[in-house]
Amino acid sequence: MSNMLVFRYIRDAFTDPPDIPELTLAQWRALGRQVPLLYAMLVSNSLIVAWTHFSVAPIELTLYVPVILTVLCVVRTGMWWRNRDLAISADKARRSLMTMIWVSTAMAIGFAAWSLSLFPYGDAYQQSQIAFYMGITTIGCMFCLMHVRAAALMVGICVLVPFTIFFAASGQATFVAIAINMVMVIVALLIILLNNNNDFAALVSSRNAVAQRQVETQRLLDENHRLANLDSLTGLPNRRSFDRHLAAALREADLRNGAVAVGRLDFDGFKSVNQIFGQLTGDRVLIEAARRIESLRRPDTVVARLDSNSFALIVQGPVDDAFMARCGETLCDAMRQPFDMPSGPIRLSASAGFAASRPGDSAHSLYDRADYATSAAKREARGRAVVFSERHASEITRVRRMEHLLHTARLEDEIYILVQPQFDVTLGATTGFEVLARWRSPVLGEVSPGEFIPMAERTGQISKITRIVLRQALALGALLPPRLRLSVNLSAHDIGSPTAIEQIVALVGSHGKSCRVDFEITETAVMRDLDQANQSLLALLGLGARIALDDFGTGHSSLTHVQKLPLHRIKIDRSFVMEVTSDPASRAIVKTMVDLCRNLGISCVFEGIETEEQLEALVSLGGRIMQGYLFGRPMLPEDMDEYLAREASLQRLETRAVS
Ligand code: C2E
Ligand code: CA
Ligand code: CA
Repeated sequence: MSNMLVFRYIRDAFTDPPDIPELTLAQWRALGRQVPLLYAMLVSNSLIVAWTHFSVAPIELTLYVPVILTVLCVVRTGMWWRNRDLAISADKARRSLMTMIWVSTAMAIGFAAWSLSLFPYGDAYQQSQIAFYMGITTIGCMFCLMHVRAAALMVGICVLVPFTIFFAASGQATFVAIAINMVMVIVALLIILLNNNNDFAALVSSRNAVAQRQVETQRLLDENHRLANLDSLTGLPNRRSFDRHLAAALREADLRNGAVAVGRLDFDGFKSVNQIFGQLTGDRVLIEAARRIESLRRPDTVVARLDSNSFALIVQGPVDDAFMARCGETLCDAMRQPFDMPSGPIRLSASAGFAASRPGDSAHSLYDRADYATSAAKREARGRAVVFSERHASEITRVRRMEHLLHTARLEDEIYILVQPQFDVTLGATTGFEVLARWRSPVLGEVSPGEFIPMAERTGQISKITRIVLRQALALGALLPPRLRLSVNLSAHDIGSPTAIEQIVALVGSHGKSCRVDFEITETAVMRDLDQANQSLLALLGLGARIALDDFGTGHSSLTHVQKLPLHRIKIDRSFVMEVTSDPASRAIVKTMVDLCRNLGISCVFEGIETEEQLEALVSLGGRIMQGYLFGRPMLPEDMDEYLAREASLQRLETRAVS
């Protein structure tokens, strides 16, 4: 067993250089630094010995051999010197170390043989010098070769063995003693060298591990940076990166007294792409859109993806209104080109908004203006580009002021209701009224619900307005003949909030009498959270109320919603009514919707009838319940009596005419 260990120890000692590339390279570099020292010491020590023996030994030994050995040493030093700064491969380093092991062995034998051959010529002093020279030079060489274990070992053995035999055999007690000294020192040295060699290997491997950890850490940092700043779908900078770029671009523009433009590009109705064609196709469209924008941008323009289907640009350099408008139109044109998908081409439009920076602008204020221009484009020029102008600035000021006034308004006093009749053409009578909110502000006067309702939705006051309108509607309902119902509009916020619904239920419940109020909801409200919408509607149905789906045909118009929700009626949007006399497609859609409602057993109300022609067309298509200026404009509740009385007298006249 111990033999085995010794054998393995010796084998390990000689398997040098080891097959670890980093260690081999480290050994090669360390040795390279010591090689000149090694040969310089070897040559000078040898020349001194040659010189002291010059007069006593033959010239072959004191001149020729030392010269040959010196030349060999100089050549070897030259070779190492030439390679010292080269970045060599681990393989080449390994070969070079192997050569060094064999060269060291050969030289050790050569120098040992030369020194011992000089021994017989000298006197006792010179012989002692030989012994000293051999011992000390071997130790020196082994020291210089310490990073290459096998080379140091070979040198030690190749000198020590002949040296010990030679001096032990001399019979001279002093030389035998020197031989023993030499053996002891070299053995000690070998042990130290072997340990040192292991420490060196451990050092290199730990340095290596540290370096590898550093590389890995850097890779993780790069990856983190990429994830934090790039959008993973399109590879474009993300919002965070956009914000940083914009802040930097503004600082830079400030320094050169220039301007920066921000553009936003938003697809119109992108949600339906995901719904109809699936998320994967939606993603492909976005990737292609990103590619198109990228291909159009100037080198110094930054393009980013802000969120699902909205992109943003930072345009540097001179930016005037005409330039921004051109940029915007080019982008919108590019988005209008069909997107070729495996399932077929998809046609889309995108609206863009641009704004240029003004002195003192922050990234936030500039972005807000571009954002406003985009929403203005969506409202007023869908699929086109809008550049932020003074008109928009005054609009914003007006809206802010209005928001402030709405916020500080005494809504209970300032909100009042109007009602608009819903007429059943088959019965020839009004069957109900839609309740419409109005705001009379002491400062602004009458404000249209088209303005203050979306504002109240934004500022979180809508539920309060709903309750005020509902309270007035409940009070009014109590005074009306039982055949008439009132329908109150609910906002998406009401449907989406369990608290708001609870408050509505409590309000209706507190009124006591049987509920004569119905509710109108929009598809957008339902879309947000179908489950919550369903629960809200069930709670309202529990009150005896009925539910109408408002503005049908303008939103997503999903049949699934119509079938899944507990609806009593659908209100067909005014846009279809407007075109029913002129557009055959609208007629066909109206017909389909009438049939659909009949099949589902729900009623269908047409909104916004203004002319006899529209009425006739709708009636011929099967329409029954009508609402619009032709029958009555929204009126004050106090005018209802007069309206109903007029209707009754008309009915009497008609009955009389018929009979
Ligand atoms: P809506 O629910 O679609 O209401 C119908 C709108 O069309 C009303 O506008 C009505 O005055 C108008 N209208 C009715 N007949 C005709 C017609 O023949 N021709 C034309 N051109 N228009 C007609 P209004 O009162 O300005 O309300 C606008 C929108 O404001 C409503 O649209 C509704 O979405 C919202 N709104 C009104 N009151 C309330 C409310 O109390 N709560 C909530 N959440 N929204 C309300
Ligand atoms: Ca309505
Ligand atoms: Ca409507």
